[in-house]
Amino acid sequence: MTNARREPPNWVDFHCHLDLYPDHAALIAECDRERVATLAVTTTPKAWPRNCELSATSVHVRVALGLHPQLVAEREAEVSLFERYLAETRYVGEVGLDAGPRFYRSFAAQERVFDRVLRACAEHGGKVLTVHSVRAAGKVLAQIERSLPADRGRVVLHWFTGTAAEARRAVALGCFFSVNAEMLRSPKHRQLLAALPADRLLTETDGPFVERDGRPVRPKEVADTVALLATLRGESTAATAQAVIVNLRTLLVKTPA
Ligand code: MN
Repeated sequence: MTNARREPPNWVDFHCHLDLYPDHAALIAECDRERVATLAVTTTPKAWPRNCELSATSVHVRVALGLHPQLVAEREAEVSLFERYLAETRYVGEVGLDAGPRFYRSFAAQERVFDRVLRACAEHGGKVLTVHSVRAAGKVLAQIERSLPADRGRVVLHWFTGTAAEARRAVALGCFFSVNAEMLRSPKHRQLLAALPADRLLTETDGPFVERDGRPVRPKEVADTVALLATLRGESTAATAQAVIVNLRTLLVKTPA
Protein backbone atom coordinates (compact mmCIF):
# COMPACT_ATOMS: atom_id res chain seq x y z
CA MET A 1 0.00 0.00 0.00
CA THR A 2 1.30 3.43 -0.82
CA ASN A 3 1.45 6.14 1.75
CA ALA A 4 -1.18 8.58 0.52
CA ARG A 5 0.38 11.45 2.46
CA ARG A 6 3.51 11.21 0.38
CA GLU A 7 1.70 11.32 -2.94
CA PRO A 8 2.46 14.67 -4.51
CA PRO A 9 -0.39 16.66 -6.03
CA ASN A 10 -1.05 16.71 -9.77
CA TRP A 11 -2.66 20.15 -9.70
CA VAL A 12 -3.08 23.19 -7.48
CA ASP A 13 -6.39 24.98 -6.81
CA PHE A 14 -5.32 27.64 -4.35
CA HIS A 15 -8.72 29.35 -4.02
CA CYS A 16 -12.01 27.45 -4.07
CA HIS A 17 -15.14 27.87 -1.94
CA LEU A 18 -15.77 24.17 -1.33
CA ASP A 19 -18.39 24.93 1.33
CA LEU A 20 -20.60 26.77 -1.16
CA TYR A 21 -21.18 23.64 -3.29
CA PRO A 22 -24.12 21.38 -2.46
CA ASP A 23 -21.75 18.35 -2.38
CA HIS A 24 -18.99 19.68 -0.12
CA ALA A 25 -17.91 16.30 1.28
CA ALA A 26 -17.92 14.60 -2.13
CA LEU A 27 -15.84 17.44 -3.51
CA ILE A 28 -13.17 16.90 -0.82
CA ALA A 29 -13.05 13.21 -1.78
CA GLU A 30 -12.73 14.23 -5.44
CA CYS A 31 -9.78 16.54 -4.64
CA ASP A 32 -8.01 13.62 -2.94
CA ARG A 33 -8.81 11.18 -5.75
CA GLU A 34 -7.59 13.58 -8.46
CA ARG A 35 -4.76 14.82 -6.24
CA VAL A 36 -5.66 18.49 -6.44
CA ALA A 37 -3.90 20.46 -3.71
CA THR A 38 -6.90 22.62 -2.80
CA LEU A 39 -7.19 25.60 -0.51
CA ALA A 40 -10.78 25.69 0.74
CA VAL A 41 -11.39 29.35 1.41
CA THR A 42 -14.23 30.55 3.65
CA THR A 43 -16.23 33.77 3.75
CA THR A 44 -17.03 33.97 7.48
CA PRO A 45 -15.12 32.69 10.52
CA LYS A 46 -18.36 30.97 11.56
CA ALA A 47 -17.69 28.46 8.77
CA TRP A 48 -14.29 27.51 10.19
CA PRO A 49 -15.21 24.64 12.58
CA ARG A 50 -17.41 22.77 10.09
CA ASN A 51 -14.88 23.12 7.25
CA CYS A 52 -12.13 21.76 9.51
CA GLU A 53 -14.26 18.83 10.56
CA LEU A 54 -15.03 17.84 6.96
CA SER A 55 -11.42 18.21 5.77
CA ALA A 56 -9.77 16.71 8.86
CA THR A 57 -8.69 13.47 7.16
CA SER A 58 -8.14 14.90 3.69
CA VAL A 59 -4.69 14.51 2.15
CA HIS A 60 -4.90 17.36 -0.34
CA VAL A 61 -7.46 19.84 1.05
CA ARG A 62 -6.45 22.60 3.48
CA VAL A 63 -8.88 25.10 4.99
CA ALA A 64 -8.37 28.87 5.15
CA LEU A 65 -9.96 31.08 7.82
CA GLY A 66 -11.73 33.99 6.14
CA LEU A 67 -13.89 37.08 6.39
CA HIS A 68 -14.87 38.14 2.88
CA PRO A 69 -14.78 41.89 2.15
CA GLN A 70 -18.18 41.61 0.43
CA LEU A 71 -19.69 40.44 3.76
CA VAL A 72 -18.04 43.04 5.99
CA ALA A 73 -21.04 45.40 5.82
CA GLU A 74 -23.07 42.86 7.86
CA ARG A 75 -20.29 40.95 9.59
CA GLU A 76 -17.63 43.41 10.75
CA ALA A 77 -18.06 42.27 14.36
CA GLU A 78 -16.94 38.75 13.37
CA VAL A 79 -13.36 39.98 13.10
CA SER A 80 -12.97 39.10 16.79
CA LEU A 81 -14.03 35.53 16.01
CA PHE A 82 -11.44 35.54 13.22
CA GLU A 83 -8.76 36.60 15.73
CA ARG A 84 -9.86 33.89 18.13
CA TYR A 85 -9.49 31.08 15.54
CA LEU A 86 -6.30 32.39 13.92
CA ALA A 87 -3.91 30.32 16.05
CA GLU A 88 -5.55 27.14 14.67
CA THR A 89 -4.66 27.77 11.02
CA ARG A 90 -1.75 28.36 8.70
CA TYR A 91 -4.02 29.60 5.88
CA VAL A 92 -6.12 32.77 5.80
CA GLY A 93 -8.75 33.75 3.23
CA GLU A 94 -10.78 34.98 1.73
CA VAL A 95 -9.86 38.43 3.01
CA GLY A 96 -9.09 41.76 1.34
CA LEU A 97 -10.85 44.79 -0.10
CA ASP A 98 -13.60 45.31 -2.70
CA ALA A 99 -14.18 48.82 -4.07
CA GLY A 100 -16.70 47.71 -6.69
CA PRO A 101 -19.98 49.71 -6.81
CA ARG A 102 -21.97 47.13 -4.81
CA PHE A 103 -19.57 47.14 -1.86
CA TYR A 104 -18.04 50.58 -1.89
CA ARG A 105 -20.32 51.78 0.90
CA SER A 106 -18.64 49.43 3.37
CA PHE A 107 -15.14 50.33 2.20
CA ALA A 108 -14.09 52.07 5.43
CA ALA A 109 -15.24 49.05 7.45
CA GLN A 110 -13.44 46.73 5.00
CA GLU A 111 -10.22 48.68 5.57
CA ARG A 112 -10.61 48.40 9.35
CA VAL A 113 -11.20 44.66 9.13
CA PHE A 114 -8.38 44.02 6.66
CA ASP A 115 -5.96 46.00 8.82
CA ARG A 116 -6.87 43.93 11.89
CA VAL A 117 -6.51 40.73 9.85
CA LEU A 118 -3.05 41.75 8.60
CA ARG A 119 -1.85 42.88 12.02
CA ALA A 120 -3.06 39.68 13.67
CA CYS A 121 -1.30 37.63 10.97
CA ALA A 122 1.92 39.62 11.44
CA GLU A 123 1.77 39.06 15.17
CA HIS A 124 1.31 35.28 14.80
CA GLY A 125 3.75 34.89 11.88
CA GLY A 126 3.89 32.09 9.30
CA LYS A 127 0.45 32.63 7.73
CA VAL A 128 -0.31 32.30 4.01
CA LEU A 129 -3.13 34.62 2.88
CA THR A 130 -5.35 34.51 -0.22
CA VAL A 131 -6.40 38.09 -0.85
CA HIS A 132 -9.23 39.71 -2.84
CA SER A 133 -8.44 43.11 -4.39
CA VAL A 134 -11.28 44.04 -6.78
CA ARG A 135 -10.82 47.67 -7.88
CA ALA A 136 -8.59 48.14 -4.85
CA ALA A 137 -5.18 46.69 -5.76
CA GLY A 138 -3.32 49.86 -4.76
CA LYS A 139 -5.09 50.08 -1.39
CA VAL A 140 -4.54 46.38 -0.71
CA LEU A 141 -0.82 46.69 -1.46
CA ALA A 142 -0.52 49.81 0.72
CA GLN A 143 -2.11 47.98 3.65
CA ILE A 144 0.16 44.96 3.18
CA GLU A 145 3.18 47.26 3.05
CA ARG A 146 2.12 48.93 6.26
CA SER A 147 0.91 45.98 8.31
CA LEU A 148 2.37 42.66 7.11
CA PRO A 149 6.16 42.57 6.60
CA ALA A 150 7.28 39.82 4.17
CA ASP A 151 9.08 37.93 6.94
CA ARG A 152 5.84 37.72 8.99
CA GLY A 153 3.53 36.22 6.35
CA ARG A 154 3.00 35.68 2.66
CA VAL A 155 0.24 36.99 0.39
CA VAL A 156 -1.25 35.33 -2.67
CA LEU A 157 -3.24 37.85 -4.71
CA HIS A 158 -6.25 35.97 -6.01
CA TRP A 159 -7.85 37.05 -9.32
CA PHE A 160 -5.50 40.04 -9.50
CA THR A 161 -6.64 42.65 -12.04
CA GLY A 162 -4.49 45.62 -11.11
CA THR A 163 -2.22 47.57 -13.42
CA ALA A 164 1.24 46.50 -14.59
CA ALA A 165 2.78 48.98 -12.13
CA GLU A 166 0.71 47.51 -9.27
CA ALA A 167 1.79 44.02 -10.32
CA ARG A 168 5.45 45.08 -10.10
CA ARG A 169 4.83 46.58 -6.68
CA ALA A 170 3.19 43.32 -5.56
CA VAL A 171 6.14 41.30 -6.85
CA ALA A 172 8.52 43.57 -4.91
CA LEU A 173 6.44 42.88 -1.77
CA GLY A 174 6.94 39.14 -2.28
CA CYS A 175 3.37 38.39 -3.36
CA PHE A 176 2.31 35.38 -5.40
CA PHE A 177 -0.63 35.38 -7.85
CA SER A 178 -3.32 32.74 -8.31
CA VAL A 179 -4.76 32.64 -11.80
CA ASN A 180 -8.18 31.37 -12.89
CA ALA A 181 -9.93 30.54 -16.15
CA GLU A 182 -11.93 33.76 -16.18
CA MET A 183 -8.76 35.87 -16.06
CA LEU A 184 -7.32 33.92 -18.98
CA ARG A 185 -10.38 34.74 -21.07
CA SER A 186 -9.71 38.49 -20.93
CA PRO A 187 -7.13 39.79 -23.44
CA LYS A 188 -6.19 42.63 -21.09
CA HIS A 189 -5.58 40.27 -18.16
CA ARG A 190 -3.77 37.75 -20.37
CA GLN A 191 -1.30 40.48 -21.22
CA LEU A 192 -0.80 41.24 -17.54
CA LEU A 193 -0.32 37.53 -16.72
CA ALA A 194 2.29 37.11 -19.41
CA ALA A 195 4.38 39.76 -17.66
CA LEU A 196 4.26 38.17 -14.18
CA PRO A 197 7.33 36.24 -12.97
CA ALA A 198 6.90 32.51 -13.64
CA ASP A 199 8.07 31.60 -10.15
CA ARG A 200 5.20 33.51 -8.48
CA LEU A 201 2.29 31.87 -10.32
CA LEU A 202 -0.30 29.54 -8.80
CA THR A 203 -3.64 28.41 -10.20
CA GLU A 204 -7.16 28.55 -8.76
CA THR A 205 -10.77 27.95 -9.78
CA ASP A 206 -12.62 30.39 -7.47
CA GLY A 207 -15.51 27.98 -7.80
CA PRO A 208 -18.43 28.12 -7.55
CA PHE A 209 -18.20 31.80 -8.60
CA VAL A 210 -16.50 30.83 -11.84
CA GLU A 211 -18.71 28.73 -14.08
CA ARG A 212 -18.14 26.65 -17.14
CA ASP A 213 -20.97 25.76 -19.53
CA GLY A 214 -23.44 27.18 -17.02
CA ARG A 215 -22.36 25.13 -13.98
CA PRO A 216 -19.81 25.82 -11.23
CA VAL A 217 -16.28 24.79 -12.13
CA ARG A 218 -14.79 22.04 -9.91
CA PRO A 219 -11.23 21.94 -8.50
CA LYS A 220 -10.09 19.13 -10.86
CA GLU A 221 -10.94 21.42 -13.80
CA VAL A 222 -8.04 23.64 -12.78
CA ALA A 223 -6.22 21.37 -15.26
CA ASP A 224 -7.83 23.42 -18.05
CA THR A 225 -6.46 26.63 -16.55
CA VAL A 226 -2.99 25.09 -16.43
CA ALA A 227 -3.31 24.20 -20.13
CA LEU A 228 -4.35 27.76 -21.04
CA LEU A 229 -1.56 29.23 -18.95
CA ALA A 230 0.92 26.88 -20.63
CA THR A 231 -0.21 28.07 -24.07
CA LEU A 232 0.09 31.69 -22.97
CA ARG A 233 3.60 31.11 -21.71
CA GLY A 234 4.68 28.91 -24.64
CA GLU A 235 5.33 25.85 -22.48
CA SER A 236 3.94 22.31 -22.36
CA THR A 237 1.04 21.69 -19.97
CA ALA A 238 3.21 19.24 -18.04
CA ALA A 239 5.94 21.85 -17.57
CA THR A 240 3.46 24.46 -16.33
CA ALA A 241 1.75 21.96 -14.01
CA GLN A 242 5.11 21.05 -12.51
CA ALA A 243 6.14 24.71 -12.19
CA VAL A 244 2.94 25.53 -10.27
CA ILE A 245 3.54 22.64 -7.87
CA VAL A 246 7.12 23.82 -7.32
CA ASN A 247 5.84 27.37 -6.74
CA LEU A 248 3.41 26.13 -4.09
CA ARG A 249 6.23 24.30 -2.35
CA THR A 250 8.42 27.43 -2.52
CA LEU A 251 5.61 29.56 -1.10
CA LEU A 252 5.25 27.23 1.88
CA VAL A 253 9.01 27.00 2.46
CA LYS A 254 9.29 30.81 2.31
CA THR A 255 6.61 31.09 4.98
CA PRO A 256 7.96 29.12 7.93
CA ALA A 257 5.25 28.51 10.48
MN1 MN B 1 -13.35 33.82 -3.90
